[in-house]
Amino acid sequence: MSSILQTPIEFLKGVGPSRAQLLRKELGIATYADLANFFPNRYIDRTRYYKIGELNQSSAEVQVIGKIIHVKTVEGKGKRLVATFADETGQMDLVWFQGIKWIRESIKIGVPIVVFGKAAAFGNMHSMAHPEIELLSEHEQSLRTVLQPVYPSTEMLSNRGISNRVLVRMVHQLFVETQANFAETLPPDLIRNANLIPKKAAMFNIHFPKSSEALAVAQFRLKFEELFFIQLQLISKNLIRKHKIKGHPFKQVGRYFNDFYQNHLPFELTGAQKRVIKEIRNDMGSEAQMNRMLQGDVGSGKTMVALMSMLIALDNGFQSCLMAPTEILASQHFKGLSEMAKGLGVNIRILTGSVRPNERKVIHEELENGTLHILIGTHALLEDKVRFHNLGLAVIDEQHRFGVEQRSKLWKKNDIPPHVLVMTATPIPRTLAMSLYGDLDVSVIDELPPGRKPIQTVHRLDSNRLKVWKFIRDEIAKGRQIYIVYPLIEESAKLDYKDLMDGYESISRDFPLPQYSVSIVHGKMKPADKDAEMERFSKGKTNIMVATTVIEVGVNVPNASVMVIESAERFGLSQLHQLRGRVGRGAEQSYCILMTGHKLSPDSKTRMDTMVRTNDGFEIAEVDLKLRGPGDLMGTQQSGVLNLRIADIVRDRDILAHARAFAIQVLREDPTMEKPENAAMRHVYIEMTRKQNIWNYIS
Ligand code: ADP
Ligand code: MG
Repeated sequence: MSSILQTPIEFLKGVGPSRAQLLRKELGIATYADLANFFPNRYIDRTRYYKIGELNQSSAEVQVIGKIIHVKTVEGKGKRLVATFADETGQMDLVWFQGIKWIRESIKIGVPIVVFGKAAAFGNMHSMAHPEIELLSEHEQSLRTVLQPVYPSTEMLSNRGISNRVLVRMVHQLFVETQANFAETLPPDLIRNANLIPKKAAMFNIHFPKSSEALAVAQFRLKFEELFFIQLQLISKNLIRKHKIKGHPFKQVGRYFNDFYQNHLPFELTGAQKRVIKEIRNDMGSEAQMNRMLQGDVGSGKTMVALMSMLIALDNGFQSCLMAPTEILASQHFKGLSEMAKGLGVNIRILTGSVRPNERKVIHEELENGTLHILIGTHALLEDKVRFHNLGLAVIDEQHRFGVEQRSKLWKKNDIPPHVLVMTATPIPRTLAMSLYGDLDVSVIDELPPGRKPIQTVHRLDSNRLKVWKFIRDEIAKGRQIYIVYPLIEESAKLDYKDLMDGYESISRDFPLPQYSVSIVHGKMKPADKDAEMERFSKGKTNIMVATTVIEVGVNVPNASVMVIESAERFGLSQLHQLRGRVGRGAEQSYCILMTGHKLSPDSKTRMDTMVRTNDGFEIAEVDLKLRGPGDLMGTQQSGVLNLRIADIVRDRDILAHARAFAIQVLREDPTMEKPENAAMRHVYIEMTRKQNIWNYIS
């Protein structure tokens, strides 16, 4: 039946060219199939009838049986029609602002009717604007489903007379014309094993549910289907990549790696670091290109893993690069890695926006003739002028700052793409990582270096600031250093900047010279000044670092033991967690102090409580996901994967895991989807890969 489903929507009885244009523009509905896959976003229980006396403040959608006893037109600022509607328990107003003449003529006084709409309360009086009205006699005869679908709509549509009732009628007409003949898309075995209802039944019940049970199984089936096809695509793309995208096989581990491992390792690697390095080594040793995400909480030692991976590249005669999101972070990496690699004879350089032309020229030359081994930098690495002799490994730190597109830009620098290692401290829950980055393999460092004491986190109100300052003085007296961080949000950058400066001034007053010295770093400073100030702090020359979130990622000052976060309610959970990770890097007990005002929204309260309760990045990510929903998650906007019609990656995580497991199984048994029972599935898969829109083709 796929042919009839591709019919342009204007040919559906009751639609026509002008409505079709509206539907296309407002809802993206161009064909019968689009309408079929246009699902209600909620349902109203129409089995329940309210009495006027029962209505209360909450203005829910209700239906009431009664009679109109009086009608009047009220002139004034906006003309309106007001009808007094009564049942045996009371009276309410029905109000119209549009179509007054027509409605006035059609109203019959004293005839039993059913009104349906949102009841709003004004004092004791209720009113309902633009209610749906039906004669009780017709209402009783009309065949209606128990749960009435409510479709997503737009103001434009309702203004132009395409009400929900009209949409329902259109969908009904669609089912009549197509005889609800929706082809099955999933293989019979899968339907049986995953406990799904057939496509046709699901489509019927999503639009016209016979009962809430029927609706639930229909929703399950369609959510499963949606998630299944996404997983199918991600997994098979991954399989194809493994087979088809050749990488540089790094066959040996040689002089650089071994020299470092035997003579220069500054500490014993953790078990997790060892395991992850082994995974990376195996990956890079194969014929296929590595595309791996390295997840590890802040402070888990990802940099060491990056260095050792880059040494393997070097042992095989290849260059590497490490790309960081900020200059500060890039220069920290540069210093850290240069220090660790001292004595190995590795040529490491840094390239950022502020590198001078002379220096830049040398870098470009050395890069192209291959004498430069490791290049560290910011976005500047992506410029076209930057050409590698042979880039073998690209490490990307704090990946959420870079879009997917940027990732592939690095790829295009060579015929054979480099291996890619993406490092992130944002612990994305595994199911979500799979659905977003299904084309990446994931390694996890789930262990912190030994001897770290868990950071103690407290939540303090601004009114308790004196106590907090006292605590800070005590810590400074013990020789520790302090971060005080202010929010910086793009939209209110000016105000934030003022907050920061005010804060800096009052802190300088409360911690005066010569006893104390206070540093400041923010985004408006020149990179060189920033660096100099960071340097002073990290050398212990200043006690307090006042900063905006520029220090969010990666900065490493082990002697810093207190992180004070001002206006903590304005930060997201993952950001708070990142910031907290700046302390707790030394052997001393560290603290994180979340400062907020008195009034907190429930979500902010949850965020503070979560931070106080746990240091576990994965747990925090789960809460974050629940609070914010996946749309907000960094990097997901570009992924396009989350353009879901019915499933919700957060709420339907269980279905996702389920669907993924089945997708893996299906592909294991039939990797090319050539078995006859998989033909329908294959068809959807191919169309979806081509058009990037599943629902057009799932029918
Ligand atoms: P992140 O994963 O947040 O990037 P880093 O790589 O910056 O963490 O490491 C944090 C700190 O832990 C650094 O000072 C680093 O030298 C140290 N470190 C890393 N691995 C170990 C280890 N196995 N034992 C002891 N200290 C380690
Ligand atoms: Mg790091």
